Amino acid sequence: MQISEELIRSVVSQVIQEVRGGQRSSANGQAANVGANGQHGLFTCAKQAVSAARTAFEQLRTRPMEDRKKAIEHIRRISISQAVELGTMEMNETKIGRLDHKINKLETLGRRAPGTEFLTTQAYSGDKGLAVIEHAPFGVIGAITPVTHSLPTITGNAVSMIAGGNAVVVNPHPSGRLVAAEGVKRFNQAIAADIGIDNLICVITEPTLESANSIFTNRDVNLICVTGGPAVGRAALNSGKRAIVAGPGNPPVVVDETADLDRAAQCIIAGASYDNNLLCIAEKEVFVVGSVFDAMMSAMQRAGAVPLNSSQIARLTDSAFQEVGEGSHKHLGPTKAMLGQDAAKLAQAAGVTVDPKTELLYGETPADHPFVDVEQMMPFIPFVRCRDVDHAIELAKHYEHGYRHTSIIHTRDVRNMTKMGRVMDTTLFVKNGPCMAALGLGGEGYLSFSIAGPTGEGVTSPLTFTRERRCSLIEDLWILGDPGVK
Ligand code: NAD
Repeated sequence: MQISEELIRSVVSQVIQEVRGGQRSSANGQAANVGANGQHGLFTCAKQAVSAARTAFEQLRTRPMEDRKKAIEHIRRISISQAVELGTMEMNETKIGRLDHKINKLETLGRRAPGTEFLTTQAYSGDKGLAVIEHAPFGVIGAITPVTHSLPTITGNAVSMIAGGNAVVVNPHPSGRLVAAEGVKRFNQAIAADIGIDNLICVITEPTLESANSIFTNRDVNLICVTGGPAVGRAALNSGKRAIVAGPGNPPVVVDETADLDRAAQCIIAGASYDNNLLCIAEKEVFVVGSVFDAMMSAMQRAGAVPLNSSQIARLTDSAFQEVGEGSHKHLGPTKAMLGQDAAKLAQAAGVTVDPKTELLYGETPADHPFVDVEQMMPFIPFVRCRDVDHAIELAKHYEHGYRHTSIIHTRDVRNMTKMGRVMDTTLFVKNGPCMAALGLGGEGYLSFSIAGPTGEGVTSPLTFTRERRCSLIEDLWILGDPGVK
């Protein structure tokens, strides 16, 4: 761990708080067991949290844009300089994913999440005068965040939402609630010390479905933004409020006969192994044209992935899936024992011992295998042999399940790119790169961890969290008109 002045300051400040009877220390990589209530964004009661966020929003409304920038700068600074400490807390609490990537997610969000520069004004001028369109805040936003990226989702949401001039109340996933509270507390403390506004980001410290529902139905919440699986998306859309839904995916990859197979293998390993496949955009199943199937399997091994044979895959499958949901929503889902675990642990379940540094396992399966069908979120990737590129695209379309989230192709054939792009109709479509390239990590564009497919906002940005307002001046201020006209 890097010992920076920032880290020392933060640890000292926590110890002082502890001595004063505040929260318990988090310096050992365990998130604080949050006891404080009603300040620095920590609330047990959703109603009180919304009320505090409303007060913070009303204060921010009276402040210049410069204060929004200062608030965001603190979130960025803490996210980058305390990434090791906070990433370790997230890993220790959630026990899924990879520590190096938990740290990397916070650092990159600190650097790449878009800020106030996104709020550009549009103007129309002409004979009738001048109209400007500006981007105004909604007010208080209710956010629900997933266990797969507890603090990173809050960090990205907070930067975008505050850039848009809003305050936010977060109901985090219960299994990531401690690190959520710790991060939010630190963000608020720094913001309050600088611009004198506390509780711009509020978090429910004991989140439940009831507290989520209380946020959904509170009249002081102007907009909802949920990041998670199908159930929370449905709940948000039934809330009676406008909802931005960043929902589930099951991203397919197609590899055709023209692809650079070594490059494709490296990209698939980089994307599918990132945080042990927890990303909603991560490569989940690969459809390869038959004529290059065996060569692609060899390329994967050359690039460092470890192959499993069919009996090993069968053993892993037994440990990896279980029936979840109720009634008409009953389906197979990943087991807690395997979700987001290291490849070496999966290999053990498959009856193989691999180098603990192994990033990804892979193997051939039929198309109707649970590893293809289910959003499995673990570092084993199924490869399916296809007749030709049309067959591969057809299967990709079927197993993406209509989420229209993310799809990927490796090809040098522009026609195949075009065909797949049209058929899939996904929010993110990556060609010849790892999934993260679609979020500006190795590709162009900005970064957010909330990708709103179902409701259509795409990769969320400050603009997602603003209302358009038009201000019209009639007949004046069009200075290009005829100087003779009074
Ligand atoms: P999850 O759906 O189990 O939980 C997400 C959040 O919703 C949690 O805070 C949970 O407590 C809450 N929740 C669940 N059901 C709810 C209900 N009925 N009412 C109110 N709140 C409810 O998902 P998870 O395991 O935490 O995260 C993984 C899922 O999130 C995957 O499906 C993944 O694809 C998706 N995800 C999507 C994006 C995106 O940007 N589109 C980003 C990250 C994760």
